[in-house]
Amino acid sequence: MSNHALENASQALKNARCAMAFTGAGISVESGIPPFRGPGGVWSKYDPEKFEKGYFKRHPDEVWPLLKEIFFDMLEKAKPNPAHIALAQLESEGKLAGVVTQNIDSLHKEAGSSVVHEYHGSTRRMQCMSCRTFFDSHSIPLDKLPPACPACGGLLKPDFIFFGEGIPTDVHRAATDLAKQSDVCLIVGTGGQVMPAGRIPYIVKNRGGTIIEINLHDTDYSYTTSDYFLQGKAGDMTPRLARLAMA
Ligand SMILES: [Zn+2]
Repeated sequence: MSNHALENASQALKNARCAMAFTGAGISVESGIPPFRGPGGVWSKYDPEKFEKGYFKRHPDEVWPLLKEIFFDMLEKAKPNPAHIALAQLESEGKLAGVVTQNIDSLHKEAGSSVVHEYHGSTRRMQCMSCRTFFDSHSIPLDKLPPACPACGGLLKPDFIFFGEGIPTDVHRAATDLAKQSDVCLIVGTGGQVMPAGRIPYIVKNRGGTIIEINLHDTDYSYTTSDYFLQGKAGDMTPRLARLAMA
């Protein structure tokens, strides 16, 4: 990557009428969260079929200990890294309208971003599958699994998307609306393999917008969609870009 690419990308971000960020697993790796896909990823160790909604409903005793191990124990320890913090700073400086994230780790909100569309949900809440009430995950003890709904004793499900579930209409609409308003999309830590989330940057591109991509390795976006591909670690490249754009 040339320094020109970084400088030109920062100018595009600085001059944007409305900029958004689109993030995925790669932004949270430096926070200690392993990616789900690819070698060494979560899905190479656990059977994804167990995280299908129907299977979960039939076998909550089997699936809940896995949910606790993969999502709640691991995420408890994770802290926002400089990439999350840089995006929050861009927002507070008026240089970023919002973030659409595929991550369920809540680290954008923890870093201080206020407009965050969590496309696949988050671990912060659980929902009772019987009475539909939502609960803050911190209020639900996980020492006895599966946890029971405090209101009716029903089965609680983390409020993130399981396999076989559709994207909730409200978050899909909010993410799509943000993309339609944006003339710059900053992609961080995702190659967009998961659909329909992966289409979000194309909404910006197809309306004549500029795509800035920060990824450790090239992706399907890099040579077809991205106007600027800044190859590097999210926690290094995002703050560098943000500093230049805020200068
Ligand atoms: Zn309930």
